[in-house]
Amino acid sequence: MSTDAVLSLRGIHKSFGDRTVLRGIDLDIAAHEVVALIGASGSGKSTLLRTVNLLERIDDGQIFLRGQDISDPRVAVDTVRARIGVVFQHYNLFPHLSVLDNVTLASRHVFGTSRSAAEKRGRELLARIGLADQADSFPDRLSGGQQQRAAIVRAIATSPELLLLDEITSALDPELVAEVLDLVRELGDEGTTILMATHEMAFARDVADRVVFLDQGLIVEEGSAEQVFSSPRNPRTREFLSRFL
Ligand code: ADP
Ligand code: MG
Repeated sequence: MSTDAVLSLRGIHKSFGDRTVLRGIDLDIAAHEVVALIGASGSGKSTLLRTVNLLERIDDGQIFLRGQDISDPRVAVDTVRARIGVVFQHYNLFPHLSVLDNVTLASRHVFGTSRSAAEKRGRELLARIGLADQADSFPDRLSGGQQQRAAIVRAIATSPELLLLDEITSALDPELVAEVLDLVRELGDEGTTILMATHEMAFARDVADRVVFLDQGLIVEEGSAEQVFSSPRNPRTREFLSRFL
């Protein structure tokens, strides 16, 4: 295991019943790296992200977060989740909480930050994404793009070591996608360590330091965005990418 890796996956296997979804995943993500996880629907991208956040228990292998084996069943799940920010495809915000309360929830209740300090930071984050005046609104007042941007700043409000993004623009109307991707790009530029499943190939090519192609639960190709997109080596990668031309 590389010691400066934020995340190291070793031999991850996961099955649901007799359906094997992850067949031995090895992956290292260095600090400040942005890694795009691409692959056909059903290839195991979401399952992989969910195992990292301990939403799914793996059947075999190990998951290291900054060298700590978080797949050890004795590890406290909440402590691990507090170190990882996550944004899913949809339904990220709690509908019964104001936007500001959504953003400050983890700081206050998991990290014990005072309300005033959490709200100061929360309002700064909301101002950054142009939602300062929506702080006291409920999420249903926001557009889908605004909700996803609020979900992203909620995920980073506690300065997690790793940010997991699972197809966060796939439920959005096309005209709302760019504002969400622009925020992800900014976070990447600022040095946030990101593992993102995406089918936004142009975005992955532009923003990701590294691209990982998952095929039926196995990483069959990985490399720089430039290498994978311009000269994919694996026939499966070529076939997959040809659908986006
Ligand atoms: P992707 O995100 O790449 O589309 P997923 O990780 O969602 O792929 O799914 C991979 C496979 O695992 C699919 O065949 C899916 O049906 C199956 N799967 C995912 N979650 C479950 C579950 N909780 N129970 C049973 N099968 C599941
Ligand atoms: Mg998925």
